[in-house]
Amino acid sequence: MAFDYFQFPYNSDNYGVLIHDPKTGATAVVDPGEAGATEAAISQTGWTLSEIWITHHHWDHTDGLAAVKANHGAFVRGPEGVAGVDQVLSGGAKFEFAGADVDVLHTPGHTLDMLNFHLPSEEVVFTGDTLFVMGCGRLTEGTPEMMWESLQKLMVLPSETVVYCSHEYTEANAKFALSVDPENAALITRAEMVALKLSQGQPTVPTRMEAELETNPFLRPSDPAIRAALGMETATDGEVFAEIRRRKDNF
Ligand code: ZN
Ligand code: FE
Repeated sequence: MAFDYFQFPYNSDNYGVLIHDPKTGATAVVDPGEAGATEAAISQTGWTLSEIWITHHHWDHTDGLAAVKANHGAFVRGPEGVAGVDQVLSGGAKFEFAGADVDVLHTPGHTLDMLNFHLPSEEVVFTGDTLFVMGCGRLTEGTPEMMWESLQKLMVLPSETVVYCSHEYTEANAKFALSVDPENAALITRAEMVALKLSQGQPTVPTRMEAELETNPFLRPSDPAIRAALGMETATDGEVFAEIRRRKDNF
């Protein structure tokens, strides 16, 4: 990775991230959801903020946008309909950050406007509230079909891709994952590692796509053991995904 990454927590369980190019000094923040925490991260790193990237319209991802933009005169990229966005992006768009390509993925499901940012040369993706560690976002606006299609856009990224997501929901996600995939050895081991990390006050984010493919039940509707556990051996992947999402909502 050519860039430096600085993840910072805010609110009760959100994460924002600063991306910094040491050569040019360019610095972006993904989701300045709280101005104070974003400013503290900027001060702590000593970096000069040049850009703001917004994943979706929810308040916990946009609340600090106006203040942080005003403080730094930063250029804002994000979805349509978010106040303060200078460049409206949609799926399939590309932009350059400090000479690196950023591919914009539209991943509706949690919200209809959700954008994810993939930096292929860095092998990094910012998944907002679409893909979480061992989980996925609640369907506040979209349908299960939409979310399953969105997650498949992330599943085809190289397995070594580093995944930054916007919430620390990992402990609850691991408990749920074990309820639908109890025999998965990789999941059992990972749940133990996650509990240890959290007990030491460490974040469980970022993760890697490879670990998600092995342990995240929302990426595994084709898995025979999960299908058997749900009694859905002959259903489509989309149907199994919808049932896993429904169960998580009621867990
Ligand atoms: Zn959200
Ligand atoms: Fe959120």
